[in-house]
Amino acid sequence: MNCVLAIDIGGTKLAAALVDEAGSVLRSATRPTPRTEVMAALTALIAEVTVDGPPPLAVGIGCAGPLDLAEGTVSPVNMPSWRGFPLRDEVQALTGLPTVLAGDAQCFALGEHWLGAGQGSRALLGIVVSTGIGGGLVIDGAPILGPTGNAGHVGHMSVDPYGERCECGGRGCVERYASGPNMARWATENGWTPGRPTGTPTEKPGEPADEPTGEPAVAPVDTPAGGPTGQPPGGPTDTRTGRPVDTRAGGPTREPAGGAMDAASGGPTAEPADARALARDAAAGDPVALAAFERGTRALAGMIASVTAGVEVTTVVIGGGVSAAGKVLFGPLERALDDIAGLPFVRAVRIQPSTLGVRAGLAGAASLAWRHHTHSP
Ligand SMILES: [Zn+2]
Repeated sequence: MNCVLAIDIGGTKLAAALVDEAGSVLRSATRPTPRTEVMAALTALIAEVTVDGPPPLAVGIGCAGPLDLAEGTVSPVNMPSWRGFPLRDEVQALTGLPTVLAGDAQCFALGEHWLGAGQGSRALLGIVVSTGIGGGLVIDGAPILGPTGNAGHVGHMSVDPYGERCECGGRGCVERYASGPNMARWATENGWTPGRPTGTPTEKPGEPADEPTGEPAVAPVDTPAGGPTGQPPGGPTDTRTGRPVDTRAGGPTREPAGGAMDAASGGPTAEPADARALARDAAAGDPVALAAFERGTRALAGMIASVTAGVEVTTVVIGGGVSAAGKVLFGPLERALDDIAGLPFVRAVRIQPSTLGVRAGLAGAASLAWRHHTHSP
């Protein structure tokens, strides 16, 4: 049985798998990403997956960025103990196998192209919308990685040259409008509080806070641990309300608006003002939450139209925690693209939700390894 070793490294989770030529996972394992000694954890994970298994032919690694493919080094934002870490050479020395490295979002795109929603596409753009926004291009079946491996940074394409300053130092970046935290930030700045219809007066202290009613049965926004851009996993859930419980500082905290009561009073606990809550409230019709998604998806649509005009993308696959918002994201995105795109080939681009979810990164890493093995002399 021929197989390759696929490795997916995120800020919250390390994953590894043996994958055959058809994309079937023969063995797999995961473990949390430690704050330090990450290589020791990765070494143990690789041993766990490969012991007594068929010997892999090559190794493919998808890793959170930034990275430098020319040097084979990584400096993941969420992994402070790795700065300029020679990941490719370390894994190659450990396994004795040819080892290839790419960014996590590039692996997402490769995985969706191989086994997911992008199968058969001549020109695919994969986008991960999560804590940040990443992307990857697969053109004529090959990943476009760029000289240092940083191609596909679509989250930092500017959609407004007079726009807000981005954390990257640029201005008007898509990520500033459309990442989960930035949509939630904008909504909060405009009066949104999780679970409370915008404009509802806050209760006087001591009065019971009303439960919002009529919430549609929307799918919860999944925040895959170790997903391509490393959104942290969802916390514990209040069994009564079905909402995440804020456990920071060891216990429930008060909502900023002062309406919620703490657990000692028997009232509902505060929930974080995050993209998961924003998606739920948008689905329930909250006008500010809806406006945040309109604003974010308009930025995404501008970027998609621009990338499509530049490299004639035919298929866009969108994954990441925020994409689990479903029609709350994809509905306004389609409408915005219809308004923004002009040329017929740009208007023809198809947008698809990810079908592999958190498995896309490993699938892409396996694809990288198979590609390297097949093309090596
Ligand atoms: Zn930026």
